[in-house]
Amino acid sequence: MTRSSPAKALNGARTGGICDRCNRRVKTGDAVRAYATVYPETGWTLRRLWCSDCGETTIEAETEGAQEAIVEAVFWKHRLAGVEVADSSL
Ligand SMILES: [Zn+2]
Repeated sequence: MTRSSPAKALNGARTGGICDRCNRRVKTGDAVRAYATVYPETGWTLRRLWCSDCGETTIEAETEGAQEAIVEAVFWKHRLAGVEVADSSL
């Protein structure tokens, strides 16, 4: 599999609407951050979603051996929009 850009791959990805750290509900139009890893079989997969207060800007809890990224996006009707990469292990 070729390495695709996480920003491109995660744009429009479906996501839950609850911050994984403070359990607050995020609303359409809110800025969010998300953590994703890539697997050869499935491509980029969202692992965590954070509200703008909780979101990490750098990869802190690294997953060993995984390609991973932190992205910034706008939460839009349970999808990510305007995804930009904040940090990436690639
Ligand atoms: Zn939060």
